[in-house]
Amino acid sequence: MNFTGHGNKLIEERIIDFNDAKKLVMKLKKIPISSRVARECIDLAYGFFSPLHGFMNAKTLVSVCQEMKLLNGTLWPIPILLDMDKAIIDKNNLKIGEQVILSYQGQPLALLDIEEIYQYDKLKIAQEVLGTSEEQHPGVRMLKQWSDYFIAGPIHLLNQPRFQPPFDRFWYTPLQLRKIFAEKGWERVVAHQTRNVPHTGHEWLMKGAWFSTNGDLPVEKLKTGVLVSCIIGPKRVGDYIDEAILLGQQKLHDAKYFRNDIHMVSFVLWDMRYAGPKEALLHAIIRTNLGCTHHMFGRDHAGVGSYYDPYDAHRVFDKIPKGSLNIKPVRILEWWYCPVCGEVTYSGLCGHTKEKQPFSGSMIRSMIQDKVKPTKLIMRPEVFNSVMENADKYGFGSPFCTEEYLNRRQPVFELS
Ligand SMILES: [Zn+2]
Repeated sequence: MNFTGHGNKLIEERIIDFNDAKKLVMKLKKIPISSRVARECIDLAYGFFSPLHGFMNAKTLVSVCQEMKLLNGTLWPIPILLDMDKAIIDKNNLKIGEQVILSYQGQPLALLDIEEIYQYDKLKIAQEVLGTSEEQHPGVRMLKQWSDYFIAGPIHLLNQPRFQPPFDRFWYTPLQLRKIFAEKGWERVVAHQTRNVPHTGHEWLMKGAWFSTNGDLPVEKLKTGVLVSCIIGPKRVGDYIDEAILLGQQKLHDAKYFRNDIHMVSFVLWDMRYAGPKEALLHAIIRTNLGCTHHMFGRDHAGVGSYYDPYDAHRVFDKIPKGSLNIKPVRILEWWYCPVCGEVTYSGLCGHTKEKQPFSGSMIRSMIQDKVKPTKLIMRPEVFNSVMENADKYGFGSPFCTEEYLNRRQPVFELS
């Protein structure tokens, strides 16, 4: 496993003792934050974003946007920002040097030391980070919804989130994961990032990555694990519900398509920016902090529409300065079903290219929507059954997000 986090820094947690936190909450101003900022406070405090300790100041923002690095030279591709309405800043008379409580859904979450309050053109951020300022890009839409002012400063968590079932089973902080990897004796860990219920194409992606990660090791040293690292963030109508994704991935484990000692499922709180190659780098940084040594990147990783070439996220790892990342990319092309071989096959492997039957996400989705069990060559029956169960249990009858789910779903975590 990776012993240090990104930038060769040890992972630190920034969490305030319960009694001290209570005293601070009594005397400091409480400032409401969005759900994205709440998720990023949690990420910062547990070290998912190590070596960052807080939200970026203007100088760091410019450096990240223009040079893809922090002020000390550490690689960093996407700004981590706390946006704030001018009205809230004025109403609370927020000042540099002041400590305030960031509150989420009426509960205190984090302590912020205000280091700077500034403005920066959001469309410039979009252009520099996403390569476009077009409204069709979801990352641009997200930036446009942000407030116009930014507050910089280090944060500490005052209140640790309580994850609700089934999320609680899959929530691991970087320090917890590192401990588990050490207990399992995993010398190498390959991360698989996903927002999907797994079909067999995904399963083979992971299996292929496991082979690649192990390829140079003698049999005695095959201590390699696959960490499924699901992204949990905002949802849109038509996305798979979070519960079906996590529990569907876990089925591959429970039904032993992966041996139990080489595979585990977890998640990261993150609001996708769809920044293609730059987002691939950020995902690599987060998984370095989790202790992973390798990270899979498939076709069009974190891309959207035709903004990035499907393999830009592969090429970016050759463009960054040597030694700026402490994790190896495992670059994966495509798996599909070959009816001549009667098996799943890989880009450039068998010669039956005319007969190629790609895994079609939309076809599998429409089968699931119609409750038609796909053949086991496409989706494992245990996974399909789990998706159906969880549609009833968590999705108001649908495995895909509906308006009803978005309005009435149980929260991922609560604060007390
Ligand atoms: Zn074939």
